[in-house]
Amino acid sequence: MSLSGGCQCGAVRFRVERTTRASICHCRMCQKASGGFFGPFADVEGLTWTRGQPKCFRSSNLVRRGFCETCGTPLTFEADGGAPSLSIGAFDDPSAIAPTLQMGEADKLPYADGLADLPGIPPGDQERATAHFARIVSHQHPDHDTDAWPPGA
Ligand SMILES: [Zn+2]
Repeated sequence: MSLSGGCQCGAVRFRVERTTRASICHCRMCQKASGGFFGPFADVEGLTWTRGQPKCFRSSNLVRRGFCETCGTPLTFEADGGAPSLSIGAFDDPSAIAPTLQMGEADKLPYADGLADLPGIPPGDQERATAHFARIVSHQHPDHDTDAWPPGA
């Protein structure tokens, strides 16, 4: 069973035969490159770029990181001489790829371990939040392959 994914705008799409190790990395470079609290990456086998190609930034002497040059979605972590690892959130079904390892813990943000305990939106604000989400018209590529994108292109 192969897994597909791609960037937010749909200019870059990929397919892999399988994922192997999935991890999060707390190192400062993964924080910066992902714009998040940690980098979430899956090692993969059988990677094919099915639309477009990521542009790469060489973030160190050992690693380059791929991203969509149109929308900026972080897509790869590529150690020299190894196969690219792919951003878990870029897969069409990231729920199928649970991380089993964390790395770079020396740089872990002091609040990272408490994220799961954050409160949700208070009941009094729920109506406003629901109205906000109802107004959204997504320009994001759907979570499946498409013959042409954007529609009508
Ligand atoms: Zn894109």
